[in-house]
Amino acid sequence: MRHEEARRRALKRRAILIGVPVALLAFVVGAKLLRGGSSGTEEKETPAQLVARQRARENRAIDRVLGYTTFIKSGKGRKREVALTFDDGPSEYTDRVLRILRRTNTPATFLVIGSMVRERQGTLRKIVRQGQAVGNHTDSHPAMGTLDAVSQSREVDDQERAVKEAGARERRLFRPPYRSFDESTLELLAERKLLMVLWSVDTSDYESPDPREMAHDVLNQVEPGSIILMHDGGGDRTATVRALPDIIKGLKRRHLKPVTVPRLVLDDPPPRDQGMPEGTLKG
Ligand SMILES: [Zn+2]
Repeated sequence: MRHEEARRRALKRRAILIGVPVALLAFVVGAKLLRGGSSGTEEKETPAQLVARQRARENRAIDRVLGYTTFIKSGKGRKREVALTFDDGPSEYTDRVLRILRRTNTPATFLVIGSMVRERQGTLRKIVRQGQAVGNHTDSHPAMGTLDAVSQSREVDDQERAVKEAGARERRLFRPPYRSFDESTLELLAERKLLMVLWSVDTSDYESPDPREMAHDVLNQVEPGSIILMHDGGGDRTATVRALPDIIKGLKRRHLKPVTVPRLVLDDPPPRDQGMPEGTLKG
């Protein structure tokens, strides 16, 4: 009897030894099958997580570009993407610009002034909530090239603080007012890991031309990779607001997709051999 029982126990042990790994294997295979062909992690991501992941990718792309240049004035033009940029806001015109962008599902980038942000914190939050990109356009809009290094860094930092106090956190892009900068500006931007955003198409909307003419001029000049300079503040922007729907329509007709500047940097980074724009380095 004793002998019988020992044999039964041995068999049971062997069944466990084989059975446990088989069950584990079945469990793993089953779990994989349940997840199916599409990636399980992406399915579980919330929209906010997706946005955060995209933002992180764009920030890494900006870091890569900062490894070989201090600025972007356009992409290489390898994709049919362009970037609409708005300077000098937020202002009383920004809401109208945002409505047009939302209605037409158009991403854009706003280079905002610190002193303007302090007056219109709600508008800045609206820009961010709508998923638009935000960059630094100094605190009081001086010609950076005329300031000493300390004053320049104060301009950048005070703007950043104003944006932060309004509840936004974006800080990777910088546009120099009047396109004025010098060696100190470039050192400062490198230190703060800010990419200088220039442009390749100027709407000249600060001269308040006829909206139709403005749209026509922009669409004549625009090409893949273009960064388009516009203004949503700093004066009467009625013409810009009127021209915007035609500009967007024209871009779409040319199969040019508007994206934010960080997205353009990710998808179509600036060429490595872009020359420093002439006449912009001022002592
Ligand atoms: Zn400006």
